[in-house]
Amino acid sequence: MTQGPTAAHPVPVLPSRGPVRPLGLAQVSITGGFWGDRQAVNAAATLAHCETWMERLGWLANFDRVADGTTASDRPGWPFSDSEVYKLLEALAWESFRTGEAEAESAIKRLTARIARAQDPDGYLNTCFGHGGQPPRYVDLEQGHELYNTGHLLQAAVARLRTHGEDELVRVARRAADHVCRTFGPGGRAGICGHPEIEVGLAEFGRALGEARYVEQARLFLDRRGHGTLGDIPLGRAYFQDDVPIRQADVWRGHAVRALYLSAAAVDVAVERGDDELLDAVRRQWERSVARRTYITGGMGSRHQDEGFGEDWELPPDRAYCETCAGVASIMVSWRLHLATGDVRYTDLIERTLYNVIASSPADDGRAFFYANPLHQRTPGRPSDGTEVSPRAESGVRAAWFDVSCCPTNVARTLAVLDAYLATTDGDGLQLHQYAPCVIAADLPDGRRVAAQVETGYPADGAVHVRITEDASAPWTLSLRVPAWAEGATLTDDGRTRPAAPGTVTVRRAFRAGDVVTLDLPVRPRFTWPDPRIDAVRGCVAVERGPEVLCVESHDLPAPGLLDALVIDASGGPAADAGGALVTGRSRARAGAGWPYAAARPDASGDDGFDVRLRPYHAWARRGPSAMRVWLPASS
Ligand SMILES: [Zn+2]
Repeated sequence: MTQGPTAAHPVPVLPSRGPVRPLGLAQVSITGGFWGDRQAVNAAATLAHCETWMERLGWLANFDRVADGTTASDRPGWPFSDSEVYKLLEALAWESFRTGEAEAESAIKRLTARIARAQDPDGYLNTCFGHGGQPPRYVDLEQGHELYNTGHLLQAAVARLRTHGEDELVRVARRAADHVCRTFGPGGRAGICGHPEIEVGLAEFGRALGEARYVEQARLFLDRRGHGTLGDIPLGRAYFQDDVPIRQADVWRGHAVRALYLSAAAVDVAVERGDDELLDAVRRQWERSVARRTYITGGMGSRHQDEGFGEDWELPPDRAYCETCAGVASIMVSWRLHLATGDVRYTDLIERTLYNVIASSPADDGRAFFYANPLHQRTPGRPSDGTEVSPRAESGVRAAWFDVSCCPTNVARTLAVLDAYLATTDGDGLQLHQYAPCVIAADLPDGRRVAAQVETGYPADGAVHVRITEDASAPWTLSLRVPAWAEGATLTDDGRTRPAAPGTVTVRRAFRAGDVVTLDLPVRPRFTWPDPRIDAVRGCVAVERGPEVLCVESHDLPAPGLLDALVIDASGGPAADAGGALVTGRSRARAGAGWPYAAARPDASGDDGFDVRLRPYHAWARRGPSAMRVWLPASS
């Protein structure tokens, strides 16, 4: 179906066509529960935390120095630090609309004023290049991140445009986008940025403004990549996806966030231009990468050296990188693919990634974050007092801020607009994809109104009650996603209960206000076995409960050192245990060996075993530093 005007529809992604239309912040409001709690912390703590750190480290003052003509060669921060300010602005824009918080609005104004002053008369806006004491513009497209920064500025402007309308931030973004088009457009320099992001920013900015030339510039950048357009680097051109044109690639490779931002843009461009070849290329890459290069958590990227995808089946749990930003980027791609196709497998992966990557990152107080998300931590991290910048992405504890601090603002902007990932409509009804307590009210294209309130304790509890809140003038269809893991789910409607197989279950009728449809998802714990080709976890089993991957922490073992030697009994099923699971464990280690290899095959010691409690992976290291593992060697 073709969709209407884009104004005043607060969503991060709004394709001009597609089988379903996303509902935005004006139509869906999360009212509490698992995600509502996290949104509240994000609003109350994380946004101010990010601004405070950027001020403290001089990343905000970088804009003042450009404006005041006092730049020098000793600029604080990495070349991409401007993008953190823009991602914070995007989060603030969503938050200002979502809650009407006066502080969010005043933060937008004060940050925008400082950014606007730093813009050059021709629209160029960057605090690292092109001013006194700095390298000239665009001398280092491989690593300079200038266009990357601009892409995040455009995404922030999209959020502002759709929540507020045109203002100074939008005007700054428009001048910056025009500068990019003049410099890199047809007849201009045939360059691309070493970090994709400008493409996804331009495509959505073009949609939000109804200006096709920005989408066209995104297409140009996409089609230029993959031909050795950038200089070679020690990590190779696959690092920034300049090794193979995106239309020809079969799988995601290289730096995970780069690969995923690029694919998100490719879906946008493909949809706007009706370019099925390009859309099919991304779908193909998603299929293979999800089938062979994705962790059970939904995490992506198994190599630390380049924050990148490994080869097929290369998914070591202890060396999993799984950058939080790659989780955000994976959601960006899957959501766009869902909007382009209506396929619920994409929203299934979004759920997995939300609960196991995004929810893992922020600390309970919203002031510390995981960057890397390994599935096995052998040594507890060193406690942090929250005052230092972590030089490393991986440390086993959440850090207040990082030297490269991309993840906190990425989590912040995602949580601030999470309501817009819950539901869609089509010509005949409402589709629910993620289950959270929320209220929904939307108009279908023919004017019929659909309105409902979702009540649920999910994922702790598997019952999802959808209470219709307005009488229908004519029948409409309520569609509910049934996760792939939810064998045995049931749907109860009008007093009758029926099976609901994984995929989508629907109810079509003329609903009356007060009608309740209940989806019961079986969230009891279950064992999950890996494909034997994933060598690093062969012989191991994981425990999942609903959408949550569980883990064992050293805190919960009779002796902390047992985690290395733990073998669990997988002959039955895991027992339910207050939001987690309980299994029987034994210790299997070779006592006193000075050489860890021997002719005899080790056996589990003959004791009766001990109880091993598993808790959600996203909750790990919240009770202090711990050793932890998701994949557990199984004795049978
Ligand atoms: Zn990151």
